[in-house]
Amino acid sequence: MMQLFIPLNFLGFVYREIRGALANIERMFELLALTPKITNLEHAIDQSPELPQVEFNEVSFDYDGRPIIQGISFLVPAGKKVAVVGDSGAGKSTLIKLLFRFYDVSQGAISIGGTDIRKLSLAALRQSIAIVPQDTVLFNDTLYDNIRYGRPDATDAEIKQAAKLAHLSDFVESLPLKWQTKVGERGLKLSGGEKQRVSIARAILKGASILVFDEATSSLDSHAEKAILDALKAAAKGHTSLVVAHRLSTIVDADTILVLSQGKVVEQGTHDSLLSQQGLYARLWRLQNETQ
Ligand code: ATP
Repeated sequence: MMQLFIPLNFLGFVYREIRGALANIERMFELLALTPKITNLEHAIDQSPELPQVEFNEVSFDYDGRPIIQGISFLVPAGKKVAVVGDSGAGKSTLIKLLFRFYDVSQGAISIGGTDIRKLSLAALRQSIAIVPQDTVLFNDTLYDNIRYGRPDATDAEIKQAAKLAHLSDFVESLPLKWQTKVGERGLKLSGGEKQRVSIARAILKGASILVFDEATSSLDSHAEKAILDALKAAAKGHTSLVVAHRLSTIVDADTILVLSQGKVVEQGTHDSLLSQQGLYARLWRLQNETQ
């Protein structure tokens, strides 16, 4: 039996590796297909603004004629935190892609510090935003180098401080090889929560003025969730933050919460004011608390 098990197990490993590689190739083609459409203007502004406000003004966007975002306006004042919640497919992650200029808006405008992002150079725009994505891409390298990727010229002290703020230090120190621990292909040796904290440490290290957090959909135990929440709070300090949340407990402290449904903002306010409106947010809140 064991003689059969080992080759089958190995075949499973090979299959997973090939599938992972294909997913990466698909992603690469996706990026290659996207990049040429988004270009710099001839006299693009090449300076990242310091702690700017972020504004969406009557923004609409469609994928191949299918409307996804429909006339959305909101402001994230400098240094504040705005959260976006809503059903799956409501268009939350698309807002982030538009802010990062993976795509350009079909109508309306997005501005940073009062400047339309299409007038900024792509380098200046992307330098001013640190994204913690849903699925963090980790390299099969050490934990230390995976964090350093946030800013390759960071000093040792800066890397360790970012890890500390992201609540990673105790975990790293508990490992036999500590900072030199390899994370495995795509970070397979780390839990979902640890991966997202590596990503938060990278974002802190990058030192960008705008922080964007796209919360992973996978469920975490309450200990892991608290570690991410604390890390996120530390990262958001001194930043203008936009947070896409799936678990409403992540964003109860946001200055404003936008509730998205089918590409439109249907409610907005603080956690308490939205609960008292007894609308979609209150319903989502009740639902999440019932299923916990
Ligand atoms: P979730 O909570 O599940 O992450 P979301 O609110 O973030 O969802 P988006 O990822 O913004 O939703 O997707 C909004 C809509 O756009 C979905 O219906 C999705 O199928 C569609 N969509 C997303 N990416 C593409 C794409 N590259 N091409 C075509 N349609 C897309």
